[in-house]
Amino acid sequence: MKVIGIVGFKKSGKTTLTMSIARSLMDRGNSVAVVKHSSEPVDHRNTDTGQFMEEINWVALITPENSEIILKGNHNLKEIMSYFLVDFLIVEGFKNLKYFPKIVCLKEEDEKNALDDGLVLFTAGIDASLKEKKVVNYLVSEENDLEEMVSQVEKRAFILPDMNCGKCGYGNCYGLAQAIVKGSEVQQKCVYSQDIISIHINKKRVYLNSFMSQLYQNVIYGMFSPLKNIGSLENARIEIDLNSKSELKKQDNS
Ligand code: SF4
Repeated sequence: MKVIGIVGFKKSGKTTLTMSIARSLMDRGNSVAVVKHSSEPVDHRNTDTGQFMEEINWVALITPENSEIILKGNHNLKEIMSYFLVDFLIVEGFKNLKYFPKIVCLKEEDEKNALDDGLVLFTAGIDASLKEKKVVNYLVSEENDLEEMVSQVEKRAFILPDMNCGKCGYGNCYGLAQAIVKGSEVQQKCVYSQDIISIHINKKRVYLNSFMSQLYQNVIYGMFSPLKNIGSLENARIEIDLNSKSELKKQDNS
């Protein structure tokens, strides 16, 4: 999964940009999830859900149109991320998190210094004069600008584990994240960013979160390690062709 943050002060165009980038990434064939930070609690008072939440930590609501899982209390982003199995996660808000790159939305020139923590891929704004004055790189409403922004997100979004072990030589994840944004390092410098397993389906890479990655690895080792005469599974490349359409059809009809 690749992650991009979108930060900015109130009414700077964050939500419009989040929506536009999400739509465009999906048009390009990617799966996308959004996590938004809010200081306002979701109001479930006077509902059955609210009544459950008074005493129960996990509550799910399933309706014909959509479903929601409500986790009581404050949960961190990494925990929430483990619920998503997508190509891209767009994180709106959370400007204090320092382990993935960001797009900064500006509505005033002097906001830039307050928001630039060295993780900024580029800036965007909703006011055309900011682009004319070269305060922002892109305009949220410009179609060509949006295409360029999305291409950059596809190429440059990333996430580090936020374990701050220092094994990359940067002391913490923030240090390496800044170097990656600057272009002097790559994500693989993080000793934990080398995927333990990579899966391609129809030549398209399937991005797995760490939980799913570990799960698939366990399943694959469990399936193949008892087989004889296959050599070591260390660094193995396993190809599976699902080309027996009649068999699949049989299962569909059953
Ligand atoms: S090796 Fe990875 S987890 Fe450890 S500090 Fe560097 S970036 Fe963070």
